[in-house]
Amino acid sequence: RVAYVNGSFTPHLNAHVHIEDRGYQFADGVYEVCIVIDGRTYDFDGHYRRLERSLNELRMPAPMKRAPLEAVIRELLRRNRLRDALVYIQVTRGVAPRNHPFPPNGAEPVMVMTARRFNVSESDAKAAKGVKVISQPDIRWGRVDIKTVGLLPNVLAKQAAVEAGAAETFLVRDGVVTECSSSNAWIVDKSGVLITHPKGNHILGGITRETAIACAQELQLKVEERAFTLEEAKAATEAFMTSATSFVMPIVAIDDSRIGDGQPGPIAARLRNAYKNKACGN
Ligand code: PMP
Repeated sequence: RVAYVNGSFTPHLNAHVHIEDRGYQFADGVYEVCIVIDGRTYDFDGHYRRLERSLNELRMPAPMKRAPLEAVIRELLRRNRLRDALVYIQVTRGVAPRNHPFPPNGAEPVMVMTARRFNVSESDAKAAKGVKVISQPDIRWGRVDIKTVGLLPNVLAKQAAVEAGAAETFLVRDGVVTECSSSNAWIVDKSGVLITHPKGNHILGGITRETAIACAQELQLKVEERAFTLEEAKAATEAFMTSATSFVMPIVAIDDSRIGDGQPGPIAARLRNAYKNKACGN
């Protein structure tokens, strides 16, 4: 395997950054995850725009424009002989003696990229059965709209899911389901209206969420971007989650409450199909 580290391609096994990297010490960095299927990036526009936004919010310069970034991704896939891949991009503020303020003389941002095989049919098989989720308090900070590498609360929430035999965790803040540890949360009410938490400081604005909203509108489904409670979710007709790596993933149980008839819902299935068609080559 080959990784990209600050301008060069190096064997994944010895791809390193310095111990004084601010990403390592302070989680002072941002990242993106996107999917490539059959050599085509999914929703790349959105992922690149969000990377720019995250960098901007942390007052970090963009280390690379869109075209060269895409060229690096293509080269990374070529060197790893991958057609279907999960691409990870991370940019940290760089290496400097440990001190909380930004380095006074600036620092060179450190950009790394990895790619690994992504198995679409595995994801489709999972979607055909649907997944279980649990719920946990949302203990994250007030700017989770920035895609920073500071993910400890998300890690703990996902670990709790794994230990409960579930795939994800609904995060609950002030009685409201904000999102999941690495995806956005959706429910469908009795009238077939799709409901998902509005954008703002308490969710990461998912790129898949955005494209799914557009797909829903094209399918003439009504979407309400509003807060919903855990109780509402448990009583929903359908539930699902969205992310770059899970597309639209049907949820069949929340904390041992069965959703609908315990099978993936028809709306989630339609939306998953529509998403896969719309996102490729974007
Ligand atoms: N919320 C969180 C907390 C996430 O980590 C992710 C995945 N990056 C998402 C939502 C979904 O975002 P996207 O659709 O852009 O993958």
